[in-house]
This record gives sequence, C-alpha cells and structure tokens, in this order.
Amino acid sequence: MTATHRHTLDACFLGPYGENDTLLEKLVVEFLRDHVYWRRNFHPEDPPAIATRAAHHPDYLAFEARMRRELHLLSAALKKSVPFHSPRYIGHMTSDLLLPGLAAHMLALPYNPNNVCEDAAPVTLDMELQVGLQLARMLGFPADPARPDCAFGHLTSGGTLANYQALRLALALKAFPVALRAAGVPVLELPPDDWQAFNLPRNEAIALWEQWQGWLAAQPEALARHWRDKVEAERIEQRGLADFFAGHPQLRMPLVMAPATAHYSWSKGMKLLGLGSHQLRLLPTRGMRLDADALREALADSVRERQPVLMCVAVLGSTEYGTIDPVHEVLAARADAEAQGLHAAVHVDAAWGGYLATLFRHEDGSLRSRDEVASGFERFPLPEVHAAFAALGEVDSITIDPHKLGYLPYGTGAFVCRDHRAMALLAERADYVFHESDADDYMARHRRLGQYIPEGSKPGAAAAAAYVTHRVLPLDHAHFGQLTGATIRAAEAFHAAARRFADDMAGIVHVLVPFAPDSNLVCLALNPHGNTQVARANAFVHAVYGTLRSDPSQPLQVKDFFGSMTSLRPELLGAEQTARILAGLGLDVATLGQGEDAQHLLILRHTLMNPYLIDEENGISYVARYFDCLGRQLRPLARMA
Ligand SMILES: *Cc1c(COP(=O)(O)O)cnc(C)c1O
Repeated sequence: MTATHRHTLDACFLGPYGENDTLLEKLVVEFLRDHVYWRRNFHPEDPPAIATRAAHHPDYLAFEARMRRELHLLSAALKKSVPFHSPRYIGHMTSDLLLPGLAAHMLALPYNPNNVCEDAAPVTLDMELQVGLQLARMLGFPADPARPDCAFGHLTSGGTLANYQALRLALALKAFPVALRAAGVPVLELPPDDWQAFNLPRNEAIALWEQWQGWLAAQPEALARHWRDKVEAERIEQRGLADFFAGHPQLRMPLVMAPATAHYSWSKGMKLLGLGSHQLRLLPTRGMRLDADALREALADSVRERQPVLMCVAVLGSTEYGTIDPVHEVLAARADAEAQGLHAAVHVDAAWGGYLATLFRHEDGSLRSRDEVASGFERFPLPEVHAAFAALGEVDSITIDPHKLGYLPYGTGAFVCRDHRAMALLAERADYVFHESDADDYMARHRRLGQYIPEGSKPGAAAAAAYVTHRVLPLDHAHFGQLTGATIRAAEAFHAAARRFADDMAGIVHVLVPFAPDSNLVCLALNPHGNTQVARANAFVHAVYGTLRSDPSQPLQVKDFFGSMTSLRPELLGAEQTARILAGLGLDVATLGQGEDAQHLLILRHTLMNPYLIDEENGISYVARYFDCLGRQLRPLARMA
C-alpha cells in the first residue's frame, strides 16, 4: 500500500481508540446546526412555537431530567456492547463503521426521509436508486439508465429480505408467461405449453412482458382493461400458489437449488413465499464450495422428471467459511439444462463477499485480470475465485449487504437485479396503469419504490449513508478496494500465523485450518494431543470458545479477543474431506456421530474485517497477539481435557 493510500484510510473510521473523535464531532455539530438553520429558514416569519421561557418551566425541567436519566442509563448499558470497533474483535461479520456513512446517516436522521416513495423522500430516494447503480457497476451489471436493460438495485433491511426479493422476482418472471397462456391472450406468440412458458429464459420472459404492454397500450381503453383483468386473474400472485399449480397440471411447485452452506435466510424465504423449505434442495459442497457436478446432476434429474426449478443460488462468501462458489460453473450448468428445456434463474448471495468485487474493478469499471488483482496478495484470488467474480455480470440477481463488508450501519442490505424491466412484475399497483412516458423513464418509474419492495416505509438515512460512502470511496480497487484488500491481507497473515501456531502447539494441541481461505474468513479446528474422541474435541473447542465469546456478566476488559464458533457437518463435508480433517487432528472417524455431542465437529471461526488488525503505526499485529493469547488459553485447557 502506498503512503497516500494509507493516509486516506486514516480518516475512514472513528478508529479503535476514537482517534478521529474531533473529526466526527465537527461533522456532527456542523450538520446539526445546518439542519436547524434549514428548519428556521422554511418560514422565518413564523414565531417560535415553543416559548423561549419554556425551558425554565418545572414541567420542562422535569421532562429533561427524566430524559437525561434514561439516556445516561442507556449509555451506561451500552457499555456492555460488543466492541466491534476493536482489532481484538474477530468474531462475526461486523466491524467499525465508515465515517462518511456514519456522518451521513446522523446528518440525514433529523430530516427523517422515508424512501417508500418520492413524496416522502425527494432527495434520498434518488440516492437509493444511485446506490443501486453504484453496486450494479461494481458487480458487472449494465449501470447506465439510458440502456433499456439497465440493472436496478434497492436497499432492504438486510440480506435476508434481499434473498426473499430474489425468490419473489424469479417466481413472478417464470409464472407470468403461464398466466398469459391461461388468459388466452389472442395476439402474442406464446409458448406452446405451460412447461415451456415456465421455462422461458429471463430475456424472453421480459420480451413477452414488453410485447404485452405494447399491445395493451395500442388498444382502446375498454378492451385493454378487459384483457388486463383477465391476465391479472391468472397470475400466480393473484391466484396463490395452491390454486395456480392445481390449475396447471404440467407444472409442480418449483425447487430452489442452493449449496448446503447457504444462509438460513433461504429457508426463511422459502417459507415466507409459501413454497415451503421442503422445496429448497441443499446440494453438497467441495471444500465448502458448491459442487457444480452435483448441481448438474440435480438439474439433469429435474429435466428428466419435468420438475420445474425456480432458481440456482451461488454463495459468494459463505457465512461460516467465507468460501466462494463457482458462479461461472453454475451459469454453465444452467446453460446445459436450458438446452434441455429447463430454465432456472441464477442468483448470487453475495451478502458477505459482494464488496470484494471492488478488488476486481478498475476505476473505469472494467474487470481486472487475475494477475492484476493478485499483485497485492500472496494467494488471493485463486483462478476459480477470479472466474466467479468475473461471471457476476451474467447472473439474474445479486444480494449484497452494505451493512457487512460495506462498513455501514445496520438496516442496509441490498438487492440488485440484472435487468430492471423484470421489476415491473412485482409492482403492487400494476405498472401499466401509469402513463407510457412515466414508464419509460428509469428514475421516474423507480421513484415509486414502495410498489416493488417487500417493505413499505424505510429509512432514507440508510440510502444517504450508502450513497455518500460510495462517492467518497468509489467501488473500485483504488478506493474502496484498499479497505477490502486489507481484509484479505489480514486473512492471509492469519492463515500463515495459524500454520506457525500449529507447529508451536505440536505435542500439545493439534491445530488445523480445515480449508485454505477463499476470502477473509479463516476457521481453526483444534484437538488436544492424545485425544481421539470427537465429543471430547468438541468439549475442548467449546471451552476455548467460552474464553472468546461475549459475556455480559463480566467486564469487557476481561476479554483479550472476541471470536466465534461454527461446526463442520460430515454430511456437508463429504466422507473424504471429513476423513482428511479428522486425521489431521488425530481424531478417530468412528467416534463421529457417536452421541449428541459428536454429530459434527466444532471449530473456531474468525472474520478478519477490522482495518487495523495489522497496526503499522505501532508495529503491532493483532493477528500475532491473538495467537499468543490463544496459546495461553489452550495450554491449561489441553491439560484438563
Ligand atoms: C449475513 C448473510 C445473509 C443474511 O443477511 P442479513 O443482513 O443478516 O439479513 C444472507 N446470506 C449470507 C451469505 C450472509 O452472509
């Protein structure tokens, strides 16, 4: 990293020590005053409605006293919070907040914009649409609103809702051509049967929708209404799943294919949509990445059985291991199935890893080659990881969480779809009731945001925070990428330190990194030397985790570091990998599955996103300190185990 870049990052965060307190304070005070002037200048001729002397009234003073007391209690209680800002926090997917986002969020809060529609958010709603375009560009989607097939993205409360939105959109797009057929629309060239209608590729389904719109617009009002109502009555959103599928015996409830590493929001989404989690097929993984051969087989089975598939999900940065699924191979598998008449949408759940795409973008938005990306790292990105990121532009939709690796406050997830025209199918008030001229304008149409999103009222402050952050730190390798790059370097340093640690602990504890990291999460499997029982290894890891977990009953300072824990499940790993890992730990495979406590292997999980893990200013590596600390914890626990 060059000196200039390092100094840029210096102003990015409040900092582990609150180093940038004056900067944040200046910003908050400056823009709070600015807000107050704005209030006064609306109609300065209106006298103050709260009397100047009100502040002396006993009721006022009593209220203020109560408020202060409760705020002090809140502030005191919050001291038990988890210290996400510290480089000693390497647990879950959270860290310090970027100053531009935090300041923009605080600045926008008193204006309280509601991004449900432009009437309630004349400023921040446009910013949300811009954030969608900023993310689209980073991900490799067309991001020029002048293009008819421009991408579209919006914010959600989090990745969970974004994944749900992906399911909803994919279903709407697949079921719409079926409704056109059922309504007996006389004019369009429709697929000859329901199976083919449900299996239209995205572009063809969108083209059909557009032709339908064009035809309606050319009809006299009464005729247009007649046909519109007829088609609406056949749509899956109107009929409901049970009635729709009962009415189309060629079709069945569609499946969703996802790797077994998929986040539990997928199961939630399936339930919420009414498809049922039973329709979610969790596919085996290889090294915790989706096994593309298994996907091919599952799709081939579906072709054979004429079982519709709604969507294939690839995870870009799995929640537990940070692994990157082969998006390019998922697309290839989809193409093969398509040649057999089965079409599935492809969605990438990049809630965690999405912002790593910054590392793969030049400032002009073009893709960086693997060599270019790799120049700053030891091992990252593996060729298959580069190929996965390079393929993002070809998928149908993507989930990405600005409140994770975007370092923004919670309440900021995002959903981005490849072609904005598909969104019309989600409109709560059918889009075609609006004027043609409106519908043609990308910005105008999406300013009616509440029509398209699962939520209603939503914070415009979150959109302002994301927008300003992406303006200050553009989403390319030279800007935001400095930050995401630091997380990868920290993970590489962690991985190297873990291997040295394994040598240091030889004869005391077996230490193993079960998978070389694809990104910035690194796991650690442990077993006290001499033990062969999985249950005892788990009890040991559980005890180690006890020293690393947040514990509100104790002062924060008792903890040296915060980590997290997850498990390796044999059904997810496959026999070969399970055998390799257990052997590496000196564990007897036969003891796996023996008893409640041995159904899986507990491991430590570390999220390396804090920007100050390698503190160059003071020459401190918190990675090295972590392993020193872990060593001190492990020795006595190993003797007891
Ligand atoms: C965190 C995460 C989610 C869920 O996102 P929320 O913002 O917590 O709702 C979904 N998928 C993946 C891969 C995640 O890491």
